[in-house]
Amino acid sequence: MNHQSRIEKRAPELKPVDYQLSFGEFIGVGPNGNLWVDGCDVADLANRFGTPLYIISENQLRHNYRAFRDAFRAEYPDVEILFANKSNNGLAIRHIMNTEGAGGDCFGAQEMYMALLAGTNPRTLVLNGSNKQEDELEMAIANGICVNIDAMDELDRIDEIAARLGVVADIGIRLKLDLEPLRERTGVAMHGPGTLKQQSDSTKWGMTREQTAEIVKRAIDMPNVQLRETHFHLSRMSNDPADFAVMAREMITWSGYLRDQTGWTPPCIDIGGGWTFGKWYGTGPNSQLDDKNAPTAEDYARLCCAAIKEEAERLGLPLPKLRLEPGRALSGPAGVAIGRVGAVKTGATRKWVNLDISTNHLSWAAVLDWYYHAVPVVDARAEGTETVDLVGSLCNSDEVGPHRKMPALERGDLVAFLDTGGYTESSAARYNAQLLPATVLVTGARAEVTTEREQMKDVAGRFRVPAHLLAASFAPAE
Ligand SMILES: *Cc1c(COP(=O)(O)O)cnc(C)c1O
Repeated sequence: MNHQSRIEKRAPELKPVDYQLSFGEFIGVGPNGNLWVDGCDVADLANRFGTPLYIISENQLRHNYRAFRDAFRAEYPDVEILFANKSNNGLAIRHIMNTEGAGGDCFGAQEMYMALLAGTNPRTLVLNGSNKQEDELEMAIANGICVNIDAMDELDRIDEIAARLGVVADIGIRLKLDLEPLRERTGVAMHGPGTLKQQSDSTKWGMTREQTAEIVKRAIDMPNVQLRETHFHLSRMSNDPADFAVMAREMITWSGYLRDQTGWTPPCIDIGGGWTFGKWYGTGPNSQLDDKNAPTAEDYARLCCAAIKEEAERLGLPLPKLRLEPGRALSGPAGVAIGRVGAVKTGATRKWVNLDISTNHLSWAAVLDWYYHAVPVVDARAEGTETVDLVGSLCNSDEVGPHRKMPALERGDLVAFLDTGGYTESSAARYNAQLLPATVLVTGARAEVTTEREQMKDVAGRFRVPAHLLAASFAPAE
């Protein structure tokens, strides 16, 4: 038995929970009518750990990972799932992924450091980034992490460091795919307005065909460098699996080009992240909610793997190993975020329900107009009777859930936002000198803090006052 299958054999068996009403396999309305995460009543968790609170279901995260892994394995001989660490880069999350045998996509020295600190097999990690720093490259190379090149001078920098350390550095190359078939396609304006091709062309990522051929030709002759993969990330600008299949096909087309130009055929293609997930109650960018019709891992796998196989056959290429880097699709549905109701205010035309959870904690609600479905924690199936704006306590309009049909809410009540396991904690902000929430990991009936709640010292502790300002207001210069 190889290493990977030994890890997978040791991973716990998952039995979805039978809820009154399910929001996921391990999140739903429990026996007492409250919202439960796995075997824990969320009202109890909020009382025990305080609010605002992030909750992650370990078993839901494992389930989401396995859904992607198994869907792609069913369609393709050699697949490796690299969790996009940035979507939730807590140490406990990384440990869970390790026990599943999942690799990881690291962005920057700190995420790489945390993945290594959590004991992730470095051969299953990749480093992505458009402006990699010297210490970042050295950390990757010293630990055997594949570096996806995204600048013309990166190869020489890697070669120099690898030679100095006396090691062979694994490298990949990030591509700027042509995406001609997506010239007229529009999606989820992630990178400004325009078609998918225009959006992709406008971002800083990836190397042109000529550039990649040049990098490959030079790398082949470098004894301290080993070419491993090509890489592309379509990002979440589309939630149509057909667009992802176009992308996957073009990865192989590019492999054919590299073979013809350089004699090197990529043994592995990494097709990045951007994979969505849907819920019957809707989630995602407000203009384009992902609901029960959203693509599943199976939809993606079927179309992408067929495209890869077809194009490889057409060009007479061997099937490469396939890597993908889902983030949000794995971590998103594994989390809920809890806020407690404070002031409730009725105006001439609106009613505002203030919460202690804000767009600091759910930043996508503000910057991407993201819809997180909100439910009351107690009596979670209660019918919505009035339309309110769920707002946080920051100095801006701070709308975490505008125009929501909710049951009557009063000071002290709890509200949960679903599917907040990805890009919430990892992109939380401290605006208005607010304290960042705690995170609790739920596993069955067990709940443990995995991120400590911030305290005043964490906010004030980084600031320094230069000597000449210390007592200046009492003793101004004459
Ligand atoms: C952000 C990112 C991902 C993950 O994206 P999701 O939308 O969370 O799946 C994967 N790979 C790269 C290179 C990324 O930048």
